[in-house]
Amino acid sequence: MLKVVKKDGFSYSFDPNRCKECGGRCCIGESGHIWVTPSEIKMISKVLALKEEEFINRYLVKIRYRYSLKELSFADGFRCIFFDTTSCACTIYSVRPQQCRTFPFWNYFKNRIEEVKKECPGILV
Ligand code: SF4
Ligand code: SF4
Repeated sequence: MLKVVKKDGFSYSFDPNRCKECGGRCCIGESGHIWVTPSEIKMISKVLALKEEEFINRYLVKIRYRYSLKELSFADGFRCIFFDTTSCACTIYSVRPQQCRTFPFWNYFKNRIEEVKKECPGILV
């Protein structure tokens, strides 16, 4: 049993035990950006045994001066290109971007608790 996670400055906590039965709701649904930094690009391409350029062309989309992971159509919405719909899991979990690691503790959600509760069943208020 994993411990409930709390974070300074956030009025909610997060129960990671809910991830098993959730089906990866944070990786699917409405379209959004999953930002990747240059060091993450380096790390993920290395793990996938791809040249950075190949990784960028295959898996990323450039939005102004930043890169985001591509999304694919899925059910009524979208899924991250690295979300496996059979296992309902992230296929690059050990090197997933910081944005994924810090979910659901995003500044954006600090004052939008109803919104994060809708997206993530692990939120405890
Ligand atoms: S939405 Fe919440 S409970 Fe579901 S996989 Fe993501 S973090 Fe875990
Ligand atoms: S990289 Fe992994 S954890 Fe992040 S959105 Fe994609 S599938 Fe989910």
